[in-house]
Amino acid sequence: MPENNIQMVDLKGQYIKIKEQVDAAIMNVIDTTSFIKGPEVKAFQEELQDYLGVRHVIPCGNGTDALQIALMALGLKPGDEVITADFTFAATVEVIGLMNLVPVFVDVDRDTFNINVEELKKAITPKTKAIIPVHLFGQCANMEVIMEIANKNNLFVIEDTAQAIGSDYTFSNGKTQKTGTIGNVGTTSFFPSKNLGCFGDGGALFTDDDELAKRLGAIVNHGMYKRYYHDEIGVNSRLDSIQAAVLRVKLPHLDEYCAARKSAAEYYNNAFADIEQLETPITDEKSTHVFHQYTLKIKDVDRAELIEFLKGKGIPAMIYYPVPLHQQKAYVRPEFKDENYPITMELCKSVISLPMHTEMDNNQLKYITESVKEFFNK
Ligand SMILES: *Cc1c(COP(=O)(O)O)cnc(C)c1O
Repeated sequence: MPENNIQMVDLKGQYIKIKEQVDAAIMNVIDTTSFIKGPEVKAFQEELQDYLGVRHVIPCGNGTDALQIALMALGLKPGDEVITADFTFAATVEVIGLMNLVPVFVDVDRDTFNINVEELKKAITPKTKAIIPVHLFGQCANMEVIMEIANKNNLFVIEDTAQAIGSDYTFSNGKTQKTGTIGNVGTTSFFPSKNLGCFGDGGALFTDDDELAKRLGAIVNHGMYKRYYHDEIGVNSRLDSIQAAVLRVKLPHLDEYCAARKSAAEYYNNAFADIEQLETPITDEKSTHVFHQYTLKIKDVDRAELIEFLKGKGIPAMIYYPVPLHQQKAYVRPEFKDENYPITMELCKSVISLPMHTEMDNNQLKYITESVKEFFNK
């Protein structure tokens, strides 16, 4: 076994490399005691705007709040239908439920794990008001078609880019945009294990729409456009200055972090190319892949047995996600039928995610891939 203990995500290894700068940035916030809404937050906001090529970034408390704030700002009313993917993390549907909106789930593409646009078209009703595509595992959903559908049906698009910040999407006319800046509003999370993670909770919204940006900025801060004048119901959702200071150190490394993930993914892909029971991730030609997760599909073997085998070798593996949203107890409804979600049902049974982070070295990759091969050659 290699000396380094292998983890799904190695936050410590990444921190060590930028420790001096991060520690100084945090100490600076403490020295200035400007803990909330300080200059660090403003500077990070502007730097992220530049990086994404978007007019407005509105920092907030976390990625789940970002989704809720987007729904609040778009003025959706109880009973309005919001479409999202069946195969994703529950935060997306959670806020739809909290807002008394009606979640409508759509099956995903087997290749990309992202929302299937043909099924999306079929799910639209007169009550549909918004679509939340989730850019799962690090690559962008089919935004060209999603925007066509949205424009034709007068729907808002909220891009959940918590897992894909930094990826690029190219339209058929050759135009390239950062994922999360294409719809009416994009949301992200700076949870520590995300591709751009801070040292606690954090999140942000992005938009090119000046009016919407104003509204988002007021909602994150108790609905205030002017101090102590509350024009609408808001929330308290802030990115604090210490988190912003950490993010300012990490943002200039984001592209290099994405490249490190991609190169680990390529190592895995090459090593697994000959294993018939394994399907390696497919990169959509329109999107770059920033590999938030490295997710394989397996067939003809017992997945639990593989996970146990790897665990015995000190290698963690995870299942993202084991249960389709339409089957989650909090959201089940009689009209959700398993037969409408065949791909999600299959994926929940066959996916497995291997360790993926910015600090994976060739020793670790060799050890992990050889261990996986050993299991299949048994
Ligand atoms: C992590 C994540 C969220 C939630 O972000 P938090 O900051 O943890 O609230 C939302 N959507 C997706 C797809 C995520 O992966």
